[in-house]
Amino acid sequence: MGTGDGHVVGTTKVVDHGSPAVRWNIAILADGYQATEQAKFHTDVGNFVNTLKSTPPYGDVWCGINVFRIDVVSNQSGADDPTACGGTGATVATYFDATFCTAGIQRLLTVNNSTVINVVNAQVPQAHVMVVIVNTSEYGGSGGGVATFSTAPSASDIGIHETGHTAFGFADEYDYWADCSESGHDHYTGGEPGQPNVTISTNRATLKWGGLVAASTALPTMANPDCTKCDGRASTVPGGTVGAFEGAIYNKCGAYRPEYNCKMRQLAQPFCAVCRQVIRQHLNPYATCCSSWTYGVNTIAAGVTERWWLWWPTYPGFEVIGVEPATPGAELQVASPGMQTNADASATYLLTITNAGATTVEYAFRGSAL
Ligand SMILES: [Zn+2]
Ligand SMILES: [Zn+2]
Repeated sequence: MGTGDGHVVGTTKVVDHGSPAVRWNIAILADGYQATEQAKFHTDVGNFVNTLKSTPPYGDVWCGINVFRIDVVSNQSGADDPTACGGTGATVATYFDATFCTAGIQRLLTVNNSTVINVVNAQVPQAHVMVVIVNTSEYGGSGGGVATFSTAPSASDIGIHETGHTAFGFADEYDYWADCSESGHDHYTGGEPGQPNVTISTNRATLKWGGLVAASTALPTMANPDCTKCDGRASTVPGGTVGAFEGAIYNKCGAYRPEYNCKMRQLAQPFCAVCRQVIRQHLNPYATCCSSWTYGVNTIAAGVTERWWLWWPTYPGFEVIGVEPATPGAELQVASPGMQTNADASATYLLTITNAGATTVEYAFRGSAL
């Protein structure tokens, strides 16, 4: 069913960092929430937004993000749950017609994307990403042209994973399609995937995230010893090591992911360094003008110490952001060993930035307004 099963109430800007013309705008819509459940939708949106902000690197670029909540009433609660996937067979009258069991996969929860696009075009035409929260406690979500997630436990993490697909074109970094007992997903057979967070390459020189791989890290970093099974072994390298780990994009062998774990592999995990870098690079252009100043993106080579002189009040409250070390613990070392007061009562700070790691890393300066 569809738009005959409810109505659009209106839009509220729940995170306001300025004109949508210069910000990255998220539109969040309700499906399967009745009129009496709109307050629950508001709570669910608030939980998602809070989790998003606290999931690195979103906090670093938060000032570049607007969030619009679009309230939509459905005549009934929940989503369709076809028996073909073992569901209850329920058909529910909702505005965006949410359903589980898309493509025969129970957890794949989708909506009528055309209806979502029509509503967003009318309500928030500047939206960069569209997210629908579906009011059912059954686990599910999807990340196509429209991201969806249910209100199952860990719902916000589902939403952030799915938004990763929709907004940044991330691949799934897990190594199965339906489950680990399946056949037919032993070996990835395609060419180099277009997504930024999976690859078929273990060549250090051409690996697309090679700049984040330390010279001491082996490639592949972990290889799956039995391509008929998901590789359940613990990591053989310290957490946060960037390399090439076999098992990704629904296949147990032949495709690699950047770290042992990532939110694109398991919901409870943080994003890996490659995914974080892509998010940051995508959102930095929207976040530059909300600080009084930014200076970047800069790079610093291994073993190098840079010296910067920052004149206050031109550069108040400076910080160094956007560091993605190749080796855990090898974050840039930032110190301010000197400050001089000038004749006009301004001050000049000496700032040193040292890259003690083994690879070039990327960073930016950002300062707050007075
Ligand atoms: Zn996914
Ligand atoms: Zn990742």
